[in-house]
Amino acid sequence: MGLIKEFKDFAFKGNVLDMAVGVIIGGAFTAVVSGVVENILNPIVTLVMDHSEDGLAAWEKALPGNVSALASSIISFLITALVLFLILKGINTASAKAAELSGRGKEEAPAPTTKVCPYCKSEIPIDAVKCAHCTSDVE
Ligand SMILES: [Zn+2]
Repeated sequence: MGLIKEFKDFAFKGNVLDMAVGVIIGGAFTAVVSGVVENILNPIVTLVMDHSEDGLAAWEKALPGNVSALASSIISFLITALVLFLILKGINTASAKAAELSGRGKEEAPAPTTKVCPYCKSEIPIDAVKCAHCTSDVE
């Protein structure tokens, strides 16, 4: 049990999760960046280098495919980010609930045992009906 608990603390409370998220987001973002380069920048460079009619025609022909490839890499980035967000949200909610369960009773303030007399402002027992200090009737 000790080892499992240690692993849980390690995996869910530490930086491991943040690091994993960073790696996954970084990978997905890299795919978007290389999609922009491959599908937009490279064809433009090719077009600039090759002014011929053939070059322009090839560029125009390839454009729809390039745009859809770029769109799909952006969409997979967004889906990856969304899924990660939902997973993290779930883990945060779960660990908040666990903390709430294990902390229950500890953080609750103890029930008050005294009250303040409205007439003389002295502290008297919570169930007193007459103040010990000024002898006023209290609720
Ligand atoms: Zn009093």
